[in-house]
Amino acid sequence: MQITDENRSIFKKQIVRLSGLAFFRNLPEEALDELAAALAESSDNFAEAETRIKIWLMFNTEVPRPADFYRMAMEAKTAAETVPFPTGCPKCKDSGLPGFIRRETGLGFCSCPLGRAKREANRRMDEDYKRSAAAPPAGMRDIADLSPQGLVS
Ligand SMILES: [Zn+2]
Repeated sequence: MQITDENRSIFKKQIVRLSGLAFFRNLPEEALDELAAALAESSDNFAEAETRIKIWLMFNTEVPRPADFYRMAMEAKTAAETVPFPTGCPKCKDSGLPGFIRRETGLGFCSCPLGRAKREANRRMDEDYKRSAAAPPAGMRDIADLSPQGLVS
């Protein structure tokens, strides 16, 4: 959905939930606006935006970039299209997640087709993220260099 003057504060509230993550305090106001807009545009509704932030917080220690929200939206759509749904799984009740998600082991996803698809989507997203984290875009480095610590050292 589009970000508007009426709904902007709702999306910005979601972005503020990322404030404990690395790089957040160095982000200029314009970058926060950009993230809020990307969150809005990559979500069909408010609940979806809230879920995106929740999932990001579960798996990441650094603030997302706008592209991350669009990628998450694309992957969610792809997963929804390729998975036989509903599977009628009694263990996870078609959530794919009967237990607590453990990021390192990948345990916690259901063994049904939906759970397996979610585990695979999660693995791919994790790989993508590790790849992008290994080479942060120039903008991120520039912002980090402007921090007081960067100037002192
Ligand atoms: Zn299941």
